[in-house]
Amino acid sequence: MLTVADAEKRVLRHAPAFGEERVAVADAAGRVLAETIRADRDYPPYDRSKMDGIAFAFAAWKKGVRSFRVERTVQAGEPGGRLRNAANGCVRIMTGAEVPAGCTCVVPREEVVAADDHAACRAEHVEPDQFIHRRGSDRAKGAVLLTPGQVLDGPRISVAVSAGKAVLRVARLPRIAIVSSGDELVELGRPVKAWQIRPSNIYGIHAALRLWGLQDVQGFHAPDDRAALRRAMKRALAFGDVVITTGGVSEGDVDFMPEIARELGARQIFHKVSQRPGKPLWFGRAGSKRVFGLPGNPVSTLVCLRRYVLSSLAGPSASSVPLLAPITSSEKMTYFIPVVLTGLGARPVRYGGSGDLAALSSSDGFVELPPRKGMYRKGERVAYFGWNP
Ligand code: AMP
Ligand code: MG
Repeated sequence: MLTVADAEKRVLRHAPAFGEERVAVADAAGRVLAETIRADRDYPPYDRSKMDGIAFAFAAWKKGVRSFRVERTVQAGEPGGRLRNAANGCVRIMTGAEVPAGCTCVVPREEVVAADDHAACRAEHVEPDQFIHRRGSDRAKGAVLLTPGQVLDGPRISVAVSAGKAVLRVARLPRIAIVSSGDELVELGRPVKAWQIRPSNIYGIHAALRLWGLQDVQGFHAPDDRAALRRAMKRALAFGDVVITTGGVSEGDVDFMPEIARELGARQIFHKVSQRPGKPLWFGRAGSKRVFGLPGNPVSTLVCLRRYVLSSLAGPSASSVPLLAPITSSEKMTYFIPVVLTGLGARPVRYGGSGDLAALSSSDGFVELPPRKGMYRKGERVAYFGWNP
């Protein structure tokens, strides 16, 4: 049976790109940039004062001048102009304002005693160029500021706007269809009989997708009836770039999903992975569309969603963490074990196995323990997948 690493490789090998689109910069948070953004002018674009204070010619201070005639005040947003009197003139200047030509240092207001049109410099020491953020000293015009593939967070949006970008080219997000099946599922709000269950997977998948920035999602449900499931799958394939099914991929009498996916033109890439939970995982491709057949067991669904679907759609995101307690391994298969993440590492939660959905509510994610002889020891580093980005 396929290993987790091989299954992941196949998923990634069949990862089609979803193209690009243009979005307003105000709507681009969390999106992946698809263009190079260059400085449209020098950074900073002018000699900029870093302080509120006075600006004058350093040469004057060096010659022993301590009292300066105030020529005018330069506020941020005004042109700096030129210092008229280099011998003992100064300007009052505000943070962010353009330093006038001829001024070669700024002395902060705290070190200045101002009276009428004079300013006395009380600084014990002044350096040439101090508190002047020189034009182009951070980046020259034309320098690359942002590159394709970067996720647009607060700092990067800020940089893009500083370069004048109102619209950004970003990777298009896939449309996602969720297909659930099962006669035992009862919609929320309806009474459930003892042998029925609530459709937790649909909501859980939806929530996880949303947290990972995938918003364009539609759900389709079918009872355990071949024709009904076929109709739901057909609609799902028409809607989604990616179809995620939950349930119906095992060996049961009504586990029609792989068969129906194939009937609708999907090519099976793999079925079954040596892992627990999630062994019956199915993955296929229908033209440019991908189909993930997640096992219905709620823990399996969420683990496989995170491990395969989100990892391939929202970027690689495993980290390596030390175990805070030993965990039993298997020689035959990979174990995914729910854990709490602390500053020190990953601690397994009380967990009754793959049917124990409730255990996940106290977990932050899970660790991946590849097959091997013997325990995973306390302190050993293992791959960790958080439920949330
Ligand atoms: P299946 O793979 O269809 O045999 O489902 C395996 C287990 O997962 C069964 O106990 C189902 O009741 C359960 N299951 C399937 N779909 C869902 C769902 N949408 N929400 C919660 N549990 C489900
Ligand atoms: Mg079922």
